[in-house]
Amino acid sequence: MAIEETKYVYLDNNATTQVAPEAIETIHEYLEKQFWNPSSMYEPALALARELGDARATVARLLGAQFADEIVFTSCATESNNAAIFGALRAAIKANPKRRRVVTTVVEHPAVIEVCRRLEKDGYPVDWIGVDEKGAIDIAAFVQALRPGETAVVSVMHANNETGVVFPIEKLSRIVKQTDPKIVFHCDATQSVGKLPIDLSLDPTRSAASVPGAFGAVDMLSFSGHKIHAPKGVGVLYARRATAFEPWQLGGHQERGRRAGTENVPYIMGLAKALEMEIGDLTETGERMARLRDKLQSALEARVPYLVVNGKNSPRTPNTLNVAIYGAEGEAVLMLMSERGVCISSGSACTSGSLEPSHVLSAMKVPEGALQGNFRFSLSRYTTEDEIDRAIDAFVESVELARRASSKWDNDKGKPIA
Ligand code: PLP
Repeated sequence: MAIEETKYVYLDNNATTQVAPEAIETIHEYLEKQFWNPSSMYEPALALARELGDARATVARLLGAQFADEIVFTSCATESNNAAIFGALRAAIKANPKRRRVVTTVVEHPAVIEVCRRLEKDGYPVDWIGVDEKGAIDIAAFVQALRPGETAVVSVMHANNETGVVFPIEKLSRIVKQTDPKIVFHCDATQSVGKLPIDLSLDPTRSAASVPGAFGAVDMLSFSGHKIHAPKGVGVLYARRATAFEPWQLGGHQERGRRAGTENVPYIMGLAKALEMEIGDLTETGERMARLRDKLQSALEARVPYLVVNGKNSPRTPNTLNVAIYGAEGEAVLMLMSERGVCISSGSACTSGSLEPSHVLSAMKVPEGALQGNFRFSLSRYTTEDEIDRAIDAFVESVELARRASSKWDNDKGKPIA
């Protein structure tokens, strides 16, 4: 059941998702009846603390984590990324002052990029790894950037929020561990948890071939509840027991002293429920979303001239389609789509509203003429075939109208002005 499905076609699930009715039911129960502080010492609070422990164990099991206490509940993926990178770097420097370098990519979400920019400002060297036209990471540059005894943290996303392009985390983490096992490998998996296999117990260093989802060499992993049909305001940081990191948020002893602040128990329960659903039918839902995404992609390629699919020939998450069009302003198309009740985004949600071209598409060398007209369609488990049909018609019509009014489009020749 899609909320208000007759009114809106919601295809912006990489920005946020509809909360699953099952998660709402769980949250409601805890909000209404279980208001206790799980750190208190009387029976109902102790019982609640045990339930919180069960939710932690569920999340650990679903990700293949060895121990439940490797799961730290946070408020969102941004917090998890900040805590992971700042916290692991701090611990690394304490152990060895020469270990102060960070490696990341130029296409990360701002929740990693801005952390690394701050570190650079503060005098810590950061190696920024680029991508090619397909969005694939430059592996040779990645290998060269790793410096045994000096690199402290590597932070690489699993799936890109704008294009859905997937990085080979199994391979990258294996390279890191074989170069220097003391380097902490952090992965922002906000756009892949619940969509792609992730098993923290499968060790890629034991196999020469890449096994999709073998995340056993990943030390820290972040994601957010609201991308997997739980509410906003709850996230997860996985931190392997052996991984040293200094807590970033200080205060009480919650989360075994690794993240101070009273736990948001109702939302944590909702997150565990939503994750159970997402991972429970990952293959089936993934195949369904991929079929609908591919239908959308083929229809747009056939019906909209001068359109390119970004990341088309790369491994992608099953729910994401990013297209760029020539000869129209992106904002005009978005407005026309909105008037037709179809919600999509331009670039990422964090950059829409500003005229800045997407840093991801710029890094992929998408030509200038198409940078102002790029669109992300992102599906969810609730997306229906009828919604995809409506989105196709709305997009074809919106692009035609926007081009007719655009100074970038030659109406006589029916093509973009060079
Ligand atoms: N990382 C990635 C890859 C994302 O897509 C997002 C959100 O779009 C975030 C981090 C930040 O998530 P949140 O806003 O929940 O902190």
